[in-house]
Amino acid sequence: MTDDLVRLEDYAPAAYTVTHTDLVFHLHPSATQVEARLQLVRQGSSDTMQFNGVGLTLKSIAVDGKPLAAEQYHYADDMLVVSGLPERCELHTVVTIDPSANTALEGLYMSNGMYCTQCEAEGFRRITFFPDRPDVLSRYTVTLWAEQAAYPLLLANGNLVAEGKEGTQHWAKWEDPYPKPSYLFAVVAGDLACLASSYTTAEGRDVALKIYAEERDLPKLEHAMASLKASMAWDEKVYGLSYDLDLYMVVAVSHFNLGAMENKGLNIFNTACVLAHQDTTTDQGFQRVEAVIGHEYFHNWSGNRVTCRDWFQLSLKEGFTVFREQRFCEDSNDAAVKRVEDVKLLKATQFPEDQGPLAHPVLPSSYRDIDNFYTATTYEKGAELVRMQWELLGEEAFLRGADLFFTRFDGQAVTVEDFIACMEEAGGRSLQQFKRWYTQAGTPHLTVTDSYAEGVYTLTVTQHTAPTPGQPHKAPYVIPLRMALLDGNGAPVALDEAGSEECVWEITEGTESRSWALAEKPTPSLLRRFSAPVALHYDYSVAQLVALVQNDTDGYVRWEAAQQLYHRAIVDNDTALVEPLVALAQQLLAEAKGQEALTALLLQLPSVNELGAALNPVDYHALHARRQALAAAMGKALVPAWQACVLPADKAAYAVDVARVGRRDLQRVALQYLTAAEAEGLDAQLQRLYEQADNMTERADALRLLWHQQGVGAEAMLAAAYTAALPEPLVMDMWFAVQATRPAADTVEQVAALLQHEQFEWTSPNRVRAVLGQFGQHNPVAFHREDGAGYALWCEGVARLDVLNPQMAARLLSAVMGIQRLPSPQRQLLVQHLEQLGQGKLSKQSRDVLTQLLAPAA
Ligand SMILES: [Zn+2]
Repeated sequence: MTDDLVRLEDYAPAAYTVTHTDLVFHLHPSATQVEARLQLVRQGSSDTMQFNGVGLTLKSIAVDGKPLAAEQYHYADDMLVVSGLPERCELHTVVTIDPSANTALEGLYMSNGMYCTQCEAEGFRRITFFPDRPDVLSRYTVTLWAEQAAYPLLLANGNLVAEGKEGTQHWAKWEDPYPKPSYLFAVVAGDLACLASSYTTAEGRDVALKIYAEERDLPKLEHAMASLKASMAWDEKVYGLSYDLDLYMVVAVSHFNLGAMENKGLNIFNTACVLAHQDTTTDQGFQRVEAVIGHEYFHNWSGNRVTCRDWFQLSLKEGFTVFREQRFCEDSNDAAVKRVEDVKLLKATQFPEDQGPLAHPVLPSSYRDIDNFYTATTYEKGAELVRMQWELLGEEAFLRGADLFFTRFDGQAVTVEDFIACMEEAGGRSLQQFKRWYTQAGTPHLTVTDSYAEGVYTLTVTQHTAPTPGQPHKAPYVIPLRMALLDGNGAPVALDEAGSEECVWEITEGTESRSWALAEKPTPSLLRRFSAPVALHYDYSVAQLVALVQNDTDGYVRWEAAQQLYHRAIVDNDTALVEPLVALAQQLLAEAKGQEALTALLLQLPSVNELGAALNPVDYHALHARRQALAAAMGKALVPAWQACVLPADKAAYAVDVARVGRRDLQRVALQYLTAAEAEGLDAQLQRLYEQADNMTERADALRLLWHQQGVGAEAMLAAAYTAALPEPLVMDMWFAVQATRPAADTVEQVAALLQHEQFEWTSPNRVRAVLGQFGQHNPVAFHREDGAGYALWCEGVARLDVLNPQMAARLLSAVMGIQRLPSPQRQLLVQHLEQLGQGKLSKQSRDVLTQLLAPAA
C-alpha cells in the first residue's frame, strides 16, 4: 500500500503559476470537448510542471503551438507531468469528458437535463488539466458552445463579454477580471427561468442580481432575493465590504452534494437552500435559505478575494464565513435564539466528532482525502474559534483586524496564521497561546468549583482535554469565560468598582482562581453567550438551575440550565424532578408572550442523540423510553396550558417573522407534549391542523407527530401528503424523511421499502440524505435496533451509494458517531457490518473514513 498522506509540512508552491486560463467548452452530454490554453510562468528553478487530471481523455497537447513528443510528457495516476518547459509559455490541451456518466457530481455533470459544475475541493481536475490547488490564482475567460434549443442559457464566472450563434449551436464568452483558484470555477448550461433584481452598492456600483431556477419554481425565489440584498447591505454596514462585479448570479440545481457553492459571481445552490414558499417550505427551511444565501455571499470576500493557500487552511474561509453568517442571522432574527440554535448544532455534531475516532484539529497537519475534512470541526468549531477572537478583542478591534486582513491579503492565497497575525496587530495583544485551538483536537472540559468564607467568594477553574487520535497530551487553552454572579434574587452583582455586571475571564492556565468580596454566596452564571466551545461542569443544585432558567438574562445560560435539568431527569432517571419541571414549564408558558421562540427552546426536551452524546456506554433505547415518560408526565400535568399554545385556525396571513415563527415553534413543542401525553382528541386535532394549515411548517409538524405516534388517521394523512408532494421534490424529501425518522423498531423494514420506492433515486443526494442520512443520524432507536438489522440495511445502502457517489457515501459514513460507546453486543454488530462493508470494493474517500472509524476498535 502506498502512503498517500498529504502533509502540511510538505507544502511548496507550484513550479509554475498560471496567469491566464482560456477555456472553450463544446458541451455534449456524453462527449464534451474542453480546450484549454494556460499561460504559464515559472516560479522557481524547476522546468517540470505537474497538472492534475482525473478521467480525462487527452486528444492533443502542445506548448507554444508545437505538439509535444511522447517523451516530453507523461499522464498516469491522475497526473500529467510536462518537462523541459521554458520560463514563460502556453500549454494547449484538448480533452474530452463524459458529463452524463458523472454520478459523483464533482467536476462537470448533468442535473435534471442541465450542465453544472462543482469544483471544490478537487473537481476542476475532472474538467481539464490544471494545477488544481487553491494557491494557483488565474484570470479566466470561458467560451461555452451548446445546442441553443436545449440549452438557451450559458453561464460562467464574471461578466458576459460576447455571444453569437452558428447553425443550431450558440455560444457565450465570459470573462472574470479577478484572479481566482480553480475550485471557484463554474459553468452552467440549461433552460432556466430567472428572477432578476438589482442592488446599488455603497460604492455606487449597480449590480444585476439574477436567481435562476426551473420555470415552475420562479414563485419560490423571492425570499432568496430578499436575503441576498440583506446580505449585501449587512456586509457593507458591518465589515465595510461591497460586491465587486456588475452581476451576481445564483443557480438552483436539484442534484447537488452540498448545500451551496460560492463560485465567483456564479453561486450554485442545492434547490433545498434557495427555494422557499409557504406551501413547500418550513420556517426552518426559510431560515436555512437566508443563512446559506448569506454564507455564500460573504465568501465573496472571505474565501474568494482572500483565499486559502492550501486545503489545510480550509477553516480560514469556512470558520470565518460561518461566523459571519451566524452574526448576520443573529442581527436579522432573535439573536439569543439564533445563538442557542448554533450551540445546539455544535454540541450535536462537533462535540461527538471530538470524542470519536474522526477527531481532528481545525487546522489538521495531514489528510488522506480532503473531501473528508468538510466536517463540523472545520465549519462549526472553526466559527467558534473566530468568535472567541471576537470575544477576546471586542467587536471594534476584531472588525479592524478583519479590515486589515482583507486589505493586506486582497487577491492572495493565505493561511490561518496570517489571519491571526492581523487580529494580534489590531488587538494589540498576543494570540500565540490561543493558536492551540487550531492545532489541538478535542473538546476542553472546564470544571468549576467555588467556596465562600468571610465575605470572599472564590471560583476555581480547571481545564482538561482528553487525548484524541495522534494527540495524547494537550497543553492548556486560552478560554474566554464570559460570566456573571447572581444574588439570591437572581440579579447580577457588581464584579468590580466600575459596577460591571458581566466580565470575560481569560483563562490561560490548567487551574486558576479568582475572588470577589460579596455579602452573600452568589450563583455563578457561566459561559454566557457560550463564549468558548468547552464542556462546562459546575455542580449546580436543582434550585439554582431552576433560578437560572427563570431569571438569567443570558439566553444560552437559561437554555443550558434547562438542559441540565432534563438530563438529570432522563439520564439519571431522577423522577423527583418531574414536579419542579412541571412547575417551571407552567411558569415559562405563563410568561411566553413576546418570547415564544426562546420559550420553545427552553421547553424542548433534548433529543435522544443529545442525551446520549456524552454517555459511555450509551443505551439509546432506554434513553428514548425515559424521555417519552418525562414528556408524557409533563404533557399530562399541563394539558390546558399546552392547548393554549395551539394557534387558532383563523390567523393572519403567513409570514416568516420573529414573532410568528416563535409562535409556531411553541405550538410545535406543545403538540409534542400533548402527543406524548396521548391527550384526548389530539389525533383529530392534528388532522385538522394538517387540513387547515396555510403553510408547510404546520402541515409537516402535524404529519410528523401523527405518523411517529401512529395515531388514528396516520396512514391516510401520509397518503394525502404523498399526493401533495408528487410535483415538489423538496416536499417529497420531507415525506421520505418523516418515515425514516419514526423512532420504532419496525422503521427498519419501512426504510428498506422506501429504498425500493418508485420515487427513491440513488442519484439524488437530497433523496438519499432524506432516507439513509436521516435514518442513520436522526433515528437512533431504529438504527441501533438490537438485532443489527438497522446496521445491515444502512451499510448495504452506503455500499450501493459509494459506487455512484463516493463523496456522499463517505459523508454518511463519517456521521456514524460513538461506535466505541455502544454497549455490547451492539458495538460488535455495528463493527461487524462496517468490516463487511470494508471487505467489498470501496472508493478512496469512503475507505479513508472507514479505516479511521474502525481503527480504535481493532
Ligand atoms: Zn462555505
